[in-house]
Amino acid sequence: MTSDIFSRLQRTFRSGRTKPLSWRRSQLDAMRRMLAENKQAIIEAVRADLGKPASETLLMEIDLVMDEARFVRRRMGMWSSRHPKPIHWLLQPAFGWTLAEPKGVALVISPWNYPVLLSLEPMVDAIAAGNAVCLKPSELSPTISHLLAELVARYLDPDAFAVVEGSPEETTALLEKPFDHIFYTGGGRVGRIVMEAAAKHLTPVTLELGGKSPCFVDHTVNLNTAARRIAWGKFTNAGQTCVAPDYVLATPDIAQMLADRIALAVTEFYGDDPRQSSDFARIVNERHFDRLTGLLADGGRLVCGGQTDRADRYIAPTVLFGTSPDAPVMREEIFGPILPILVVRDADAAIDFINERSRPLAAYVFSRDAETRKRFERDTSSGALGYAIPLGHLISSRLPFGGVGGSGIGAYHGKEGFKVFSHVKTVVDKPQFPDTLQVVYPPFTTLRQALIRIVAKLS
Ligand code: NAD
Repeated sequence: MTSDIFSRLQRTFRSGRTKPLSWRRSQLDAMRRMLAENKQAIIEAVRADLGKPASETLLMEIDLVMDEARFVRRRMGMWSSRHPKPIHWLLQPAFGWTLAEPKGVALVISPWNYPVLLSLEPMVDAIAAGNAVCLKPSELSPTISHLLAELVARYLDPDAFAVVEGSPEETTALLEKPFDHIFYTGGGRVGRIVMEAAAKHLTPVTLELGGKSPCFVDHTVNLNTAARRIAWGKFTNAGQTCVAPDYVLATPDIAQMLADRIALAVTEFYGDDPRQSSDFARIVNERHFDRLTGLLADGGRLVCGGQTDRADRYIAPTVLFGTSPDAPVMREEIFGPILPILVVRDADAAIDFINERSRPLAAYVFSRDAETRKRFERDTSSGALGYAIPLGHLISSRLPFGGVGGSGIGAYHGKEGFKVFSHVKTVVDKPQFPDTLQVVYPPFTTLRQALIRIVAKLS
């Protein structure tokens, strides 16, 4: 089955059908129509899988795909047109330019936590660049994966797009095909499997992975605002966000106060019993629920939360204080509503702490001190850096989004996304007359060599 799908997509791409800008526009318009006409069904499907609140699905998934489609649709003509380039003197007179051509048939493998955004946003970029796409959504969010399969088949060109539902077996079968690009979002373990499979065909990959994104806070900021923003970034989608602040590093003078104010923000957002709030999501499945409750042990003093209900896959927004760097909760990416707060001496200690670990997808700094900000910018490495705002860099088609080191390879959104799915081809055109190239033809007489030296000096 995967062979048939791959052959169909490859045939379509080779026919040239996906290349004209008019076709790309029609598919992006169809994608936007698909989202606009099925908002409610999408919201319900995501709620069924993740208990995600309607406003989160609208704001953080549907609207962001709509924005990206609008953004790239306006600019893809300019991005794919010829860009003149200067040519080396030895070739003059001559002309040079670059142009972006689609890579071909792309495979997009997406995770369950933002199942609409992380499936459709890479697809939007691939369409803008003129590719055919096979999407493999996650088996852990089966309701929305199934709905996406149905909608893509109904709204988009069925010869150029396919959605393959199913488990890792289906993904394994897909990975045997010689795709022209593989765009994977998910954990690092599977990222390695993807890269290994891609190597067999020399297929380029983009890996959008995760990691433990730190958040540093010192006394120079307004703690109420910092607490609210950290709580929002952490507890949105019950902490199942790749760029959620994983843990907080706070200086001793404000650490306890910050912890209390984050707990206060949790009550402001979700009420006294977050379980009753329609604005707080659930854990995706029992396996992740068990993993997360296991991380609560020896995690420090409980400031708020800690309540769990396996039948409902509910874990309360939980803040832990004075967490030890060796605690279980610090050994892996949390990816759930548990926020450990570690006390660090100062910014230098925080920077050392971050640099001793794998490079994160994002780092957040709550400090108004210019020198401290400069030090984080210069002395730490992360996919992105946010000053006083977690998740902010995710919400813009103008900013590249991606990781570094253990948190990923490559970036997308807007022009970066267009580039991911394009090959930039170099073109050189040297008119046959006059044949100035004669100077480099053998035999290399003394006169020719002297001429070359003179022109090289003049140019
Ligand atoms: P997941 O389990 O849904 O897996 C992702 C994809 O990999 C799925 O489509 C799944 O079918 C496929 N897969 C699973 N096992 C496989 C195997 N053995 N062989 C081939 N394919 C396989 O998602 P996940 O990994 O639990 O996602 C969570 C991780 O993703 C977290 O680490 C998170 O930080 C990261 N993430 C990163 C981003 C980003 O943009 N950088 C976004 C969201 C999530």
